Amino acid sequence: MSEASNYKEALQHPIFNTIAKASANLKLNSYVIGGFVRDYILQRGTPKDIDIVTVGSGIALAKEVSKLLPNHPKVQVFKTYGTAMLKTEGIEVEFVGARKESYAAHSRNPVVENGTLEDDQNRRDFSINALALNLAPENPGELLDPFKGLEDLKAKIIRTPLDPDITYSDDPLRMMRAIRFATQLNFRIEETSLNAITKNKDRIKIITKERIVDELHKILLSDKPSVGFKLLEKTGLLAYMLPELIALKGIDEIEGQRHKDNFYHTLEVVDNISENTDDLWLRWAALLHDIGKAPTKKFSKKVGWTFHGHEFVGSKMVFKLFKRLKMPLNDKMKFVQKMVLMSSRPIVISTDVTDSAVRRLVFDAGDYIEELMTLCEADITTKNPKKFKKYHHNFKIVRQKMVEVEERDHIRNFQPPVTGEEIMETFNIKPSREIGIIKEAIKEAILEGDIPNEHNAAYEFMLQKGKELGLSPQRPQRGN
Ligand code: ATP
Repeated sequence: MSEASNYKEALQHPIFNTIAKASANLKLNSYVIGGFVRDYILQRGTPKDIDIVTVGSGIALAKEVSKLLPNHPKVQVFKTYGTAMLKTEGIEVEFVGARKESYAAHSRNPVVENGTLEDDQNRRDFSINALALNLAPENPGELLDPFKGLEDLKAKIIRTPLDPDITYSDDPLRMMRAIRFATQLNFRIEETSLNAITKNKDRIKIITKERIVDELHKILLSDKPSVGFKLLEKTGLLAYMLPELIALKGIDEIEGQRHKDNFYHTLEVVDNISENTDDLWLRWAALLHDIGKAPTKKFSKKVGWTFHGHEFVGSKMVFKLFKRLKMPLNDKMKFVQKMVLMSSRPIVISTDVTDSAVRRLVFDAGDYIEELMTLCEADITTKNPKKFKKYHHNFKIVRQKMVEVEERDHIRNFQPPVTGEEIMETFNIKPSREIGIIKEAIKEAILEGDIPNEHNAAYEFMLQKGKELGLSPQRPQRGN
């Protein structure tokens, strides 16, 4: 693109004016660089942050900017990185002095020295992230684009400014970033770059798990996550982070019987669910819902391929996977485990939708029944239009039945209608096994539909059950 480009209109936020004034006060040349410029040209909506590079001290500039702003926002200084940050009018502004970087083999943290704007653009990961706009009042909005980033933006290409082999080896996180940007922006990674990622894949080992997971989250949260996972697989990176998914790859055939490729099936499920939810953890559940299939796969002449108990095995694998990736072992993980564990339940009942099966499903899924249904609907990847329609129709029936049962029986947040205390009081007994037996029997009777989910019916049932266990009520029975 030879047009002498100017993006003055990108600098409407009042902060740019202040930065220009502060730069003039300190006699510095300053530029807005990176994601802000890229996303402005791509019209990607309101920016979250602004990166400023100045040929001089970024920290001094940040302090001067704060001085000029009416409310003098606090400047956070990151001495080790020579950067500073302040927040103003809902936006984070990061300041850095232009720098030159050189890398040692064992670390992604470079040795840094002061440099020119061009040096600073050289250290940027991709041509589309090296675009800078001048903030100087003489030429505001002038585009400084030494690596034809604008052309790459228009052609939707991810390209490194310098030799990709060196760029990725220096900081292997960039491999994840390349794939993440390709996924988020729907761009293509230029071929030598892609080859360089494949070549340097082993270098990912020097990147912390937290950083890797951060990028995986961003891939998972994009519109079509499969793009990223296919690239991670193709370049060999996926094996370093999620070998459980690699184990799902491939189709086996014995005596003419084949099973589906569970890796590509999984990616389809993730794309499907992404059309219906932005919940990161539900998307994780979709990604992991079949991981138990690799270790449970068996072939028998009678029934062909089976994956018995894969949901249970898979839910156990979730814990190990989260632990290995240093992901939180909290309620989010438990949610993913629950989704994996229950991922076949709606399918199993959908061919014979009885009240009791639906009650049990709602009881076991509790608050997450909606999420579970969303997962199961996304799991329908058949290419046979008749089957596709039929399966969706079956789930519709399950959903209808869920509403009916819920209206009548209120199972979703099941609270036992007769408490342990009431059982102890009625039979005048201390905490004991019998209480558990009676409570369980009441719950079962409600789920089976033998009694309604109401106190009176449950109380009567308790008396009967107590009698069977040799207990008798010690006080006059409560009036019903
Ligand atoms: P997003 O906010 O969507 O992640 P971004 O481009 O703003 O996009 P940041 O991580 O905030 O991403 O980085 C800001 C800029 O810093 C990038 O645009 C890029 O120029 C540069 N950058 C970030 N990480 C690296 C890296 N690992 N190697 C080289 N340059 C990087």
